[in-house]
Amino acid sequence: MILRLSTLFLRTLREDPVDAEVASHKLLIRAGYIRRAAPGIYTWLPLGLRVLRKVEDIIREEMTAIGAQEVHFPALLPKEPYEATNRWTEYGDGIFRLQDRKGADYLLAPTHEEMFTLLVKDLYSSYKDLPLSIYQIQNKYRDEARPRAGLLRGREFIMKDSYSFDIDDAGLEASYQAHRAAYLRIFDRLGLDIVPVTATAGAMGGSKSEEFLHPTPIGEDTYVRSAGGYTANVEAVTTVVPDEIDFTSAPAARVLDTPDTPTIDTLVEAANRIAPRDGQPWTAADTLKNVVLAVDLPTGERQIVVIGVPGDRAVDLKRIEANIGAHLPIGGEIGLEAANEADLKKNPGLIKGYIGPGLSLDEPVLGTDGSAGLLYLVDPRIVSGTSWITGANEGGKHVFGLVAGRDFGWDGTIEAVEVREGDEAPDGSGPLEAARGIEMGHIFQLGRKYAEALDLKVLDQNGKLAVVTMGSYGVGVTRAVAALAESNHDERGLTWPRAVAPADVHVVAVGRGEEIFAAAQQLSQDLEAAGLDVIYDDRPKVSPGVKFGDAELVGAPTILAVGRGLVDGVVEIKDRVSGSAENVAVADAVQYVLTAAGK
Ligand code: ATP
Ligand code: MG
Repeated sequence: MILRLSTLFLRTLREDPVDAEVASHKLLIRAGYIRRAAPGIYTWLPLGLRVLRKVEDIIREEMTAIGAQEVHFPALLPKEPYEATNRWTEYGDGIFRLQDRKGADYLLAPTHEEMFTLLVKDLYSSYKDLPLSIYQIQNKYRDEARPRAGLLRGREFIMKDSYSFDIDDAGLEASYQAHRAAYLRIFDRLGLDIVPVTATAGAMGGSKSEEFLHPTPIGEDTYVRSAGGYTANVEAVTTVVPDEIDFTSAPAARVLDTPDTPTIDTLVEAANRIAPRDGQPWTAADTLKNVVLAVDLPTGERQIVVIGVPGDRAVDLKRIEANIGAHLPIGGEIGLEAANEADLKKNPGLIKGYIGPGLSLDEPVLGTDGSAGLLYLVDPRIVSGTSWITGANEGGKHVFGLVAGRDFGWDGTIEAVEVREGDEAPDGSGPLEAARGIEMGHIFQLGRKYAEALDLKVLDQNGKLAVVTMGSYGVGVTRAVAALAESNHDERGLTWPRAVAPADVHVVAVGRGEEIFAAAQQLSQDLEAAGLDVIYDDRPKVSPGVKFGDAELVGAPTILAVGRGLVDGVVEIKDRVSGSAENVAVADAVQYVLTAAGK
């Protein structure tokens, strides 16, 4: 293939677009790969489409290699299947909704679990039909709150989504591992650095889940890693639970007046003044802070959740949201907020600044009994025998030496506080450090959640109906194009890896002489005949500076210049990434480029 710049539908730009912050966004627009149509919505131009298709092809090959079969669903979908799984409600403002002329509700699919489940239900009825993995490469629509960074977070984007269907857990594990391995091969072939991290299942429900993050400072995901190889999404990090402490000889708790101590800082200061501890001053870590949150349940009720955490740790709402599902009768994405004045008024036992779990197990204010309607959860560091300074549920009073398991109980534990650098990795592989990344792919063991909601059952070996178990696996295809541009550029433009570059070689005719154009034309044809994809800058009246500038901006891995050297029988061949250039005899040029291209 030869793309001639005299006719190619391409206009490169000298200036960065005003709304672009990250390099990939600026360069993909300036080099003529994409154009913005609306916030988070892009049009693909010829060069962009070529890269996109190469990424898609690599993904297709690896999906085919694990036996997954390609299908294609509509993006415009009826509401009913999404109502059956409650996602019509759970997605809230996150999806595009519309109505047909009869007033029936539709949505533009943000992901397709429901449709895949129903399709298999439609066609399959026996365990003998399984396992099955099917996938599509298709547009997704999400009304993202902050469409950002061009293709990295779009409102219309392309995802490869696959789904596996198995009769039992062992089958699901095998399908999951096959996808995991395929994903590692895909990112390896794309030349994208990837860190697989343990994730929480979030809106998808289910159990095991991993994200494939591409480490980069512009990433929106924070993850942690340890020297010993532990990696996890911050939401999924679990706390190393301390050993329980024997409390048989612990002194009784006592309530002390601590006027004007509504904050942890004022409390610590007062504690050291009123009740100093021998040898070791009180710190925020000795206090138990109780944070009041609220969540609106689908039943219309408002659930108050109080969470007890060590006072030296900040609450991390995202971690709470990712883990609270286990304690509430609802699934999906759960939005929690700080309790408001009205919530506190309805629960007069909760005295702002002085909230505590109560003074004895027999008369709890929070915790398993007494706390009618309130859910009391604690950070996993609060284990039986630990002793705390905390609110006495009376204005201006705190209780000292309140012992967990002796004086107070709780309804459950939850990962509720920030993960700090230096915290121990849960697998004992050393202290954690934080890093940033972009989520390129995500694999989930969905289990039976969708199959149950949509009644996908098949006959098992014993002739009994069994619920099918599923996995769901996504790769951001358009996001991969952006991430590749982000990690492959320099100050002059894009520097595509060969596997996805829009062309193997960019031939530039430099100068005016007819013989130059004739030679450049002939070389382009020879390169094409050798199986290479060629961009040929045949524009007659464009200066060498502009031509080289465009070649570097567009970013094909090899630049071949036909110019002054031609009289001596040589052309200049330059590696776009290293910048190293060599004069090569015209007769050897095709072989030279083939070798550089690894062909
Ligand atoms: P994120 O946390 O970045 O919002 P997600 O967890 O919502 O992503 P999934 O539902 O797991 O995304 O979708 C699978 C893949 O689709 C993601 O791993 C990502 O590569 C891609 N993706 C998700 N949202 C977008 C988007 N708005 N624009 C481009 N790609 C996206
Ligand atoms: Mg995800």
